[in-house]
This record gives sequence, C-alpha cells and structure tokens, in this order.
Amino acid sequence: MIKEVARLLVSAKFAIAFTGAGISAESGIPTFRGKNGLWNRYRPEELATPEAFKRNPKLVWEFYKWRIKKILEARPNPAHMALAELEKLGIIKAVITQNVDDLHREAGTENLIELHGNIFRVRCTKCDFKEYVKGKRLLEEILEEDLPKCPNCGSLLRPDVVWFGEPLPEKELNEAFRLAEKSDVIIVIGTSGLVYPAAYVPYIVKESGGTVVEVNIENSAITPIADFFLKGKAGEVLPKIAQEIRRLSK
Ligand code: NAD
Ligand code: ZN
Repeated sequence: MIKEVARLLVSAKFAIAFTGAGISAESGIPTFRGKNGLWNRYRPEELATPEAFKRNPKLVWEFYKWRIKKILEARPNPAHMALAELEKLGIIKAVITQNVDDLHREAGTENLIELHGNIFRVRCTKCDFKEYVKGKRLLEEILEEDLPKCPNCGSLLRPDVVWFGEPLPEKELNEAFRLAEKSDVIIVIGTSGLVYPAAYVPYIVKESGGTVVEVNIENSAITPIADFFLKGKAGEVLPKIAQEIRRLSK
C-alpha cells in the first residue's frame, strides 16, 4: 500500500498534510488521548481552559512550564523530517497541524498552519502584545517567573495556545479550510480526529472529491472516510513513503 500511496502523492496536484499529537509521540511528547496520554495524569478541564487560568494562573503556568521544558528536549523525528522533505520536493504544499510543539518548523516545513497556537509564544491577557520566546528569554525570564508579566502593560502573560472552549485563530482556520477545499490528496497523521473544528479539515477534502490517506497506530474518528489506512508509527511509515517517492522520481 506504501507504493500506491507514493504514486498517488506523486501524481497529486495539491497534496497537504494534517497532523496531530501522534506525529510527535515518537519525539517523546505525550499525546492527549490513547496510551500514555497526558490526561491520564492531569485532567484537561483543570489545566487547559480559560476558567482554570482565571481561577489559578499559577497552576496553569506550572503545567505549561513543565510542558515547555519537555518539548524543549524534543527533536523532530523521521516523520517530521519526511514531511519537510516532501515539501521541498514540491509534493506536499502545506502542513496543517494541531500541535503546538514547533517540531514541524524545526524539521524545516515552511508552509505551516498552526491551528492551536504555539507553546513557545506568549501573549498578554490585556493588550495585544505577543512574542515568540523560544531561546534565551524563555529560559531566563518566562520559565523563571512564577507568573510572567507583559513587558508593555504589566498584565499577566499566557501561553499563546488554544484552550478547551476557546475559538481557533480565525486567519489560520480560514487558511486551513481554503487549502482543504483545493487539495486533491490529504495525508492525515497521528490525530484522533475528535477535536473540532480542526477535524473538519479531512472531511472538507473528502467532500471536495479528494483522497484521504491516514497514518495512525490505531483506528481514529477519521478512519471511516480514509481511502487508504496505513497502520503504523508515523516515524516508520512516513520515511517509507518518502523513500518510495525518491525511488519513483529517479
Ligand atoms: P490526540 O492525543 O487526541 O490523538 C493522538 C492520536 O495519535 C491517536 O489517534 C493515536 O492513536 C495516534 N498516535 C499515537 N502515537 C502515534 C504514532 N507513533 N504514530 C502515529 N499515530 C500515533 O491528538 P490530537 O488529535 O492532536 O488532538 C489533541 C489536541 O491536543 C490537539 O488540539 C493538540 O493541540 C493538543 N496536543 C498537542 C501536542 C503537541 O503539540 N505535540 C501534544 C498533546 C496534545
Ligand atoms: Zn500587555
């Protein structure tokens, strides 16, 4: 089936990828659902909601600092690298991700749409201050302070990620839907397909007549609409597809 999928991608006019926490699992970042999910130990409604942040910003920041530190140790895995390579080859036109871990960018993906924000960005809860703080400022200030404050107005800063019950960034969501409408092949990797509106993306491709390829270690909510289901770890399946594509393009 890898060969078939590789041929499909090579002949696609506008292929895109849609990724979830599963693509980063092999980089050591826990997923939310499934085995070893983050929320087996923490309840999401206690930590990743605007209400939780109002009630106890210190607890929420503690949780995010722990996640930031964990994600800082993570490196892109062969699945992230393969997607970046397929973009360079002109085969994948964009990666739409629900992840906040920055690993697609680190792997070299350029046309990246982050639907749920980025854990290395902070924003002010009052004014429009926003900053990408990966690096020195993150390590010396954000992670050191109990409650990081806005350098402009002194209000609380928060991670620039989408919490449960919050709307998605409009520009990114519109762009994702626009790309899905024009795409003829989508490769869906490591997502449970349960988080909306992000999970509409593969359905839009399907409804527009496109082909859905899924890579996952188990069935997901997307599986019923998948034309090809490649069961396996993203870090093993994606490099195989890339290798086959390299062979075909020789
Ligand atoms: P999810 O946790 O709901 O589902 C993960 C999916 O990945 C499952 O279907 C699981 O079977 C699959 N999976 C696990 N390991 C895999 C592997 N090695 N290869 C292929 N598939 C694998 O994740 P979701 O659908 O992305 O939705 C959860 C929300 O959690 C998202 O909104 C996202 O913002 C957030 N989140 C992000 C990260 C991150 O940035 N890395 C981590 C956890 C959660
Ligand atoms: Zn401010």
